[in-house]
Amino acid sequence: MAFCRLCRKSRKLINAHIIPRSFYVALDNSEGPMKIVASQPGAYARRSPNGIYDPNILCAECDNAIGGQLETHAVEQLLRPRERLAVSDSGTHLAHIYAGADPNRIFRFIASIAWRASVSTQAFFRSFDIGLWEEQLRPILLDREFSLSAHQPDFDANIVEFDQWSVPFLLPFRTRIEGLSYLCIFAARFCFYLKLDRRPTSDPLDETALSARTARGDTVTLLQCWKTSKERQAMREILLRRRDTG
Ligand SMILES: [Zn+2]
Repeated sequence: MAFCRLCRKSRKLINAHIIPRSFYVALDNSEGPMKIVASQPGAYARRSPNGIYDPNILCAECDNAIGGQLETHAVEQLLRPRERLAVSDSGTHLAHIYAGADPNRIFRFIASIAWRASVSTQAFFRSFDIGLWEEQLRPILLDREFSLSAHQPDFDANIVEFDQWSVPFLLPFRTRIEGLSYLCIFAARFCFYLKLDRRPTSDPLDETALSARTARGDTVTLLQCWKTSKERQAMREILLRRRDTG
């Protein structure tokens, strides 16, 4: 018996995936297993066919709640939805609307990746830590009734979607957007921006924030060309820095 980090009960622990496995499978292609790239100096890059798991953080029940139920929803409604609506302006695709993706559950899914990566002591994630936010996010992962609209401006997230699927996975990293702290999490063709800041965003009318979608019950992603995106540039800078100092 050991101590589950989520429910805090003494239970038998299982091998819990830290990065959702489904978001790997989607990337499995002829180029071989997905490449995982460390964002800290001294960490390492490797190819992983099965993702990275940690046998020391979750019991089966908690793993099923976040790794199972939340992940299933994210896969069925966001990663491989039956339909999505494209929003265009003058012939340019600007956004996708995922009508079946519940913003509250998508938020908890994003929060669960950040939390799992932070509590994990596996080598790849050892240098990654979201500090006090670990404790802030924990009850949300367990709360099926969690509502973003009832927790404004404390919690929020935005999603960027790239035009190609083979974006490499990078260890989540902190970034600032208009003065606020965000965590940038790459997953398949998406980049999740989890707000780790209690202050409100400067644009309360941002229709793409998950908190703004709760009344409609859908999820919006902002489309970006990967090759010219600032996310690709940020990833490039991190990798160059790692090469210099690692
Ligand atoms: Zn548990």
